[in-house]
Amino acid sequence: TLHNQLVELNGNIRVFYRIRPLLSIRDQAAIRIDSMDEGVVHLEHSSGRKTSRAADFVIPTKYSQNEIFDKVSPIVTSCIDGYNVCIFAYGHTGSGKTYTMEGPSEDPGINQRAILQLFEASQERGNDIEYTIKLSMIEIYNDKIRDLLSTSSSTSSSLTLRRDDSGHLSIPGLECRQVTSPSDVTNVLKEGSTSRVVAATDANANSSRSHVIVRVNVHAKNNVTGTTTIGRLNLVDLAGSERVSQTNATGQLLKEAQAINKSLSELGNVVFALRQGQKHVPFRNCVLTRLLEDSLHGDSKTLVLVHISPEETHVCESISSINFAEKIG
Ligand code: ADP
Ligand code: MG
Repeated sequence: TLHNQLVELNGNIRVFYRIRPLLSIRDQAAIRIDSMDEGVVHLEHSSGRKTSRAADFVIPTKYSQNEIFDKVSPIVTSCIDGYNVCIFAYGHTGSGKTYTMEGPSEDPGINQRAILQLFEASQERGNDIEYTIKLSMIEIYNDKIRDLLSTSSSTSSSLTLRRDDSGHLSIPGLECRQVTSPSDVTNVLKEGSTSRVVAATDANANSSRSHVIVRVNVHAKNNVTGTTTIGRLNLVDLAGSERVSQTNATGQLLKEAQAINKSLSELGNVVFALRQGQKHVPFRNCVLTRLLEDSLHGDSKTLVLVHISPEETHVCESISSINFAEKIG
């Protein structure tokens, strides 16, 4: 029935919160989780004010990277079965998005763990299926696509999205590296991440002003039936959600801020429309949602990790992130 279809559809979008630990012992937590029950998180501000919001899960602050990955891994594994998956890290600059996705090299985040898990899961499957895992890394800055794994010297040139005859979106010219070992994975991720940092310095911009997508394509060739299915995992470290003051920002900074604000609010609109089961989903309004259209619609699975920092100085930004989560959740 239509109702069941809607329930199914809603079930494909999840919102998790992550509140990172305080970074300095001099700070005090202004926002803490008071309690959590069936799908609702109760947040308490140090002033005593309380708010309750819907959430699928609140990651306890003390959780290790490994414990967090445990919660995320079922959705990752579904790529092996041909599903498209998007995992987003949302939050203001400094809230811990990159820590969650990339993580420190001695304690890596979701990106590396997810790809290694896909390796393991594909090896556990029967011998009749041959798996190939390929990686791309894309940066979206000012609504333009940049290839973080590009080996050509003209790194500044941007790529474009094309829709082929069969209706599939592609990015002609985008590097796509096959990985066959855990060290391949570490090397490719490191290469892409370095390229992001270098370019950010060139443009005199902070790296948190762009969206970074690690795209994992899992090709499963069934040697018995001769068919190939492709599952895709998009691991997205979004640009900082903080509002840049329109009065202080000029030129490049203003352009950057407008591109980020627009793409984050368009992402919110898309996820909201999908969750509501709306017929028309506004994918076309910015590059971020256009690029992910194939991985967001239909029976795709989406997880939004909303990052909150506990400090008083970030309360406004944290509330704005909670509002984003509430809108899409
Ligand atoms: P963002 O990418 O959202 O701008 P970062 O991931 O760079 O934020 O995190 C900001 C700072 O907080 C970094 O120094 C990072 O190491 C630290 N940090 C973030 N999350 C955690 C965490 N869960 N545990 C310990 N330190 C963290
Ligand atoms: Mg970051």
